[in-house]
Amino acid sequence: MSADPLKKAPLSPLDVAALREEFPILKREAYGKPLAYLDSAASAQKPRAVIDAMSHAMEHSYANVHRGLHLLSNEATTAFEDARKTVARFLNAGSPDEIIFTTGGTDAFNLVSYAMGAGDIKEGDEIILSLMEHHSNIVPWHLLRERKGAVLKWLDVSEDGEIDLEVYRALFSARTKLVAISHMSNVLGALTPARELTAIAHDHGAKILFDGCQAGVHGRVDVRDLDCDFYVMTGHKLYGPTGIGVLYGKKAALEALPPFKGGGEMIDMVTTEHVTYNDPPHRFEAGTPPILEALGLGAALRWMESKGVDAIAAHETRLKDHVLEELAKLNFVRVYGRAAGKAPIIAFAVEGAHPHDVSAILDRTGVAVRAGHHCAQPLMKHLGVTATSRASFAAYNTHEDIDALIAGLLKTHQMLS
Ligand SMILES: *Cc1c(COP(=O)(O)O)cnc(C)c1O
Repeated sequence: MSADPLKKAPLSPLDVAALREEFPILKREAYGKPLAYLDSAASAQKPRAVIDAMSHAMEHSYANVHRGLHLLSNEATTAFEDARKTVARFLNAGSPDEIIFTTGGTDAFNLVSYAMGAGDIKEGDEIILSLMEHHSNIVPWHLLRERKGAVLKWLDVSEDGEIDLEVYRALFSARTKLVAISHMSNVLGALTPARELTAIAHDHGAKILFDGCQAGVHGRVDVRDLDCDFYVMTGHKLYGPTGIGVLYGKKAALEALPPFKGGGEMIDMVTTEHVTYNDPPHRFEAGTPPILEALGLGAALRWMESKGVDAIAAHETRLKDHVLEELAKLNFVRVYGRAAGKAPIIAFAVEGAHPHDVSAILDRTGVAVRAGHHCAQPLMKHLGVTATSRASFAAYNTHEDIDALIAGLLKTHQMLS
C-alpha cells in the first residue's frame, strides 16, 4: 500500500503572475517605482473577487438581514449565512453555528473577555498569555484583571518565538481558567505547537483560545483537529475587507458564555421586565451585523480555497527561504525570529539605523514595510529593542519584491552609515 494519497498528490504551484492580475492595486506605482507591497501582515490587498462580491451586493442584492420578509432581505440573508458556512468550512468547524461574525480580531478577543467577565471569572482566577501576544490579545485580559481581579500569568518564549512545553505546563494551577495564546506571532512568524498547548490546557480543565489572525492566513487551520475552544481571525489580513472578524467557538464553549453586547437579533424575547437570549451564534451578534464585510470575507476565503491554501503556503515558504538567504548576505542586517517552519513575516534591524528611518528610505524606493513595536510591546522588551522593521509576504509577492527590498536595504545602509 502506498502512503497517504493526499500527501502524494502533487501540489499545483501558484501561477503568481496571473494571480497578481487579480489585484488591481498592484498595478500602481509608489513615487514612480513599481510597488513592492511587503506589509501584508498589517493588512493584505484585495483581489477582484472580493471587490466584486461587495459591489455586486450593493448594486443588486442588498437589504438588512434576518428580519425582512421581502426578496432582497431574503437574498442578503442567504448570502450572509453562506459566508458563515464558508468560514466554517475554511476552519473545518463542526457547524456554522460555531462561527460568530465580529468587527475584527480585536472585537473577538473583547467579546470573549467581556462575556467571561460577565460569567464565571472570579478574583484570583488565572489566565495564561505568552510574551509574544499582540496587544489585542493582551489588553482585553488586562481589562479583566482590572475589573474582576483575574491574574495574568506569562509564558516565556525564546528569541525565535519557541515555547518550552514544560515551562508552559508549570504555569497551570487549579485556578487556571483560560489560555489565550498566539497560533502564529505577528513579529517572529513562529507557529506555536497548538495541539500540544490545547491538550495540556484541557488536562488542567482550562479552556484555550488561539489568536489565529496570522496563522489563518499562512496555512491550513483545522479547529477540530486542534480541539481548541476558541479561534480568532481577522478579515482584512485574509485578503478580505476591514470591519469583519471571526470568533470560532466550540458549541459547548459558546453555550456556556453569557451575552456580551445587548441589542437586536441577540434576543429571544424582550418584555418590560425580562429578556431572554437567542442561541449562539446570534446571541453574540447584537444589532445589524457587518453584512457587506461578511460577504467580502466569504469571497476572500473562497478565493484562497480556489488558489489552494497549501499552494499559497508553499509559495510563501519559498519566498521566506529566499529572503532569509538574501538577508543573511547583508552583514548590517539582523533578523529576529528563525524558528523552523516560520511564516514569511520577517522582523529585522539595520545596524545603526532607526526602524522608522529604514522604512522611510525603503518607501521612497517603492518598498512598503512596517516599522514600530507591531502592537507587541512585551515581546519588544523581551527582545531588548523598542521597535523593529518588518517585511511580510503574501500570495502575490515575488522574487522581484525581494530584489527591491535588498536593493533598498543596501541604499539605506549607504545613506545612514
Ligand atoms: C492584526 C492582528 C490582531 C488584531 O487584529 P485587528 O484586525 O487589528 O483587530 C491580533 N493578533 C494578531 C497576531 C494580529 O496580527
